[in-house]
Amino acid sequence: MILQVEDVHGYYGKSHILQGVSLQVDAGEVVTLLGRNGAGKTTTLKSIVGVVAPAQGRVLFEGKQVSGLPPHKIAARGVCLVPEHRGIFKLLTVEENLKMAARKESAWGLEDVYKIFPRLKERRKNGGGQLSGGEQQMLAIARALMTHPRVMMLDEPVEGLAPVIVDEIVAQIRLIKATGMSIILVEQNLEVCTQLADRHYIVEQGRIVYSGSNAAFLADDGIKDRYLGVN
Ligand code: ATP
Repeated sequence: MILQVEDVHGYYGKSHILQGVSLQVDAGEVVTLLGRNGAGKTTTLKSIVGVVAPAQGRVLFEGKQVSGLPPHKIAARGVCLVPEHRGIFKLLTVEENLKMAARKESAWGLEDVYKIFPRLKERRKNGGGQLSGGEQQMLAIARALMTHPRVMMLDEPVEGLAPVIVDEIVAQIRLIKATGMSIILVEQNLEVCTQLADRHYIVEQGRIVYSGSNAAFLADDGIKDRYLGVN
């Protein structure tokens, strides 16, 4: 097991948003966090990287507690969040964006990242702001790889993108998974989730209300009706 979230509670001001979230990720596994808008998926990711400090409960990475550490220290251990709004530097070129994120000890160099994202290689001299939405998302994921993550968390990586780009990003996430990366995916597009995941968790009102394998999830339409309001 690479990551354990144990009974985490989290607040925004006085709002008790996470009400005891527990989940686990094995090495090399892709798990999703599903749930309706406002259920607490993004807040769960933020509590794992320390941006929202857990008020109760703990997060363990490779068996050691990381909750309580400042976000940069958790990131340095190899737990990395690719946020929903991408956070790339628009005035820097693609390659400058990647080099800025690079860490000496990283197993991922520019060429490794370009192998997964050949479009970024083609566009390496272009400014981040000149990229399409899909290319910006690829750059955000590529930048995260340069930091040498062991667990990558992707928050809505295909939101608002055209289907052909969605397919491309799904294929790229598969390639990243094939390197042994552990991934937590938050994504509204259920088809993408079921194409990529080994297991799913459903979050409702700040709690995990379901967990199951991808096969079990796919076989049970009732779950989708009950918790996600879709079928
Ligand atoms: P979505 O898909 O809408 O992002 P989510 O499951 O990721 O849904 P969160 O973003 O984790 O949901 O939000 C959980 C709850 O916390 C929501 O009620 C939201 O309004 C509230 N919330 C989120 N961010 C903040 C904030 N910075 N300050 C106060 N409340 C917040």
